Order: sequence, then C-alpha cells, then structure tokens
Amino acid sequence: MPTDKIKQILAEISSATVTSPDELEAYRMRFISKKSVVGELFAMMRDIPNEQKKDFGQHINGVKQAAEDKFQELIQALNQGTKKGNTEGLDLTLPPSNLPVGGIHPLTATRQRIIEIFERIGFNLSEGPEIEDDWHNFTALNFPENHPAREMQDTFFIEKNPDVALRTHTSSVQVRVMENEKPPIRTLSPGRVFRNEAISARAHCIFHQVEGLYVDENVSFADLKQTLYHFAKEMFGKETKIRFRPSFFPFTEPSAEIDISCLICGGKGCNICKGSGWVEIGGSGMVDPNVLENCGIDSEKYTGFAFGMGIERIAMLKYQINDLRLFTENDIRFLQQFRPLL
Ligand SMILES: [Zn+2]
Repeated sequence: MPTDKIKQILAEISSATVTSPDELEAYRMRFISKKSVVGELFAMMRDIPNEQKKDFGQHINGVKQAAEDKFQELIQALNQGTKKGNTEGLDLTLPPSNLPVGGIHPLTATRQRIIEIFERIGFNLSEGPEIEDDWHNFTALNFPENHPAREMQDTFFIEKNPDVALRTHTSSVQVRVMENEKPPIRTLSPGRVFRNEAISARAHCIFHQVEGLYVDENVSFADLKQTLYHFAKEMFGKETKIRFRPSFFPFTEPSAEIDISCLICGGKGCNICKGSGWVEIGGSGMVDPNVLENCGIDSEKYTGFAFGMGIERIAMLKYQINDLRLFTENDIRFLQQFRPLL
C-alpha cells in the first residue's frame, strides 16, 4: 500500500494556502478534479490486492474528504481576504453616490404646511372618525331635517342604517372637540371626507379638508378675518389679498366664503380665476349659537369662529395643478415634479 504517497498528499493538503482565485483553481486541479493526485490514488485501487482493498479504500476516502474540507476552508479564507482588501482600498473622502429617495406627496406637503401655520398661532390638532353618526355630521351642526346634504345623492350612508355615514366634512370633528373640551378652544382638524359625487377634474368622491375652530369669550368676526388673512399670506405669499363673500352654512351665522387674490394674474383676471381676479379657498363664519348649545357650550358667554378649506383646492392653487384626479392616480411623472420643491 502506497502509505508514503498518502502521507505526502495529506501533508501537502494541510499546508496549502491560496491568495488568489488562480491559486484556488490550481489547488482544485491538484486535489479535487478527476485528474488530481487524489484521483490517481483511486485509479491505483485496481492494482491493490483484494485483501487490502477495504483498508486502502478507507484511507483514500479520508484523503478525498480532507482535500474537500480544505477546499471549502480556502474559499472562505479567500473571500475574507477580498473583503479585507476592499476595505483597505476604500476612500472615505470621496463624495457619496446619490441614492434614489422618495418625495412627499403634494397633498401631504400642503397639509403639513397648513398645520405648521396654524400651530404657530396657538391651534392644536384634533382628529375624529371617518365613519360618523348623524348627530356629529348633521344634527349637532344645525342641519335641518330636510337639508339636501342629508340625501342619498350627496352622502354615503351605511346600507340599512341611515344613522351611520361616511363624514361629508371635517366639521364633525369640531362637534366632538366642543363636546369634550371647555373653552378656550383653538383647534385644527385635517382629514379625509367623502361625498357621493362623480369623479372629474374638479370633483372627487374622496378628498381632504381642514377645519379650524376658535371658541372663547369675545371672539369676533374680525378675529376670523385676521386669522385667515395671516394664513393666506403665509401660505401663498405676502402680496396675497383676502376677500369675504356673504354665504350660508347651517352651522355658522353669519357665514362667508373665503376668496384670495388670484396667484396667477395677481388680480388682473385670467383663466384660473375666470377673469374675476379672485379664487375661492373655503367657507367660514361665526359658530351658530345653536351649535354651541348642542355641544354643551354656553352661547351667552362664548362665541367662536370656524372655517373649512379643501386641501386639494389649496394644493392646486399653490402648485398650479388643473386636474384633481392627478393627486390619486399615482403617476410617477406627476409626483416626481414635487421632489425638488419639498
Ligand atoms: Zn387670475
């Protein structure tokens, strides 16, 4: 039995080292491949006398196993060596490669900006459920029994239960706040609202509103006007003017629509403002005493103002977007444009 040869091969295997893929391949050729020295040992099997075959077989299988174990060990050692080499070559003074980052959706950015402006003048944030009952969405807000907003064509009701609906405005949150807190109340409620409307460039069945409410002693219409004037200048720029148009809402008295001077033409008249120089951004008014009383607030002692604005509307004006549907289509070509602005 060629014991010396086996010993010599085993010694060679155990002392083998590699420093490159080429050397690893050379090892594989010498000890693993069919034409390797280990392969030659297997070829010698036929010349071994029968009574020694079993013993010899065990020996060369041991050599084969040792060669393979070492091969795995060498692969690992080589990989670690490569990693180490890369780290040594790393230049930390090089500028980083740009990673693709996402942007903030224009509606989220607009919502955040609105919150920021009102938080700085003392408004806190409040939220309410999107699935509302009739009391918080309509009755407490002084909606008459036969008001058209209560009809099926405007409101999504839960089937078989006309007391439960998807809220049609964030005004429902002001009811919840007034029921649970004592004046002074200064709160802002942004959120999703739902109307049973066909989807078009100017209308959607799901959109966002932000509701503001201020209740305290001696709150006047002048406070409302000044607050919204401050907001308009912060949101749209110092040159922005504001205008109130008398209007009607069940939950405010007196009520007014809020217009701002057209951002595109500066008030001269253009397509966006339909030649008037003004664009509407929301509704407002003094909280109707009935609403205060419905929420357990003494309307003799306290007064308040409320306003509601469409977040889509404000984003459309700010970014000059002419189709409401773009906000929800997730078209990357549209959304990408907002990255540098944010
Ligand atoms: Zn205009």
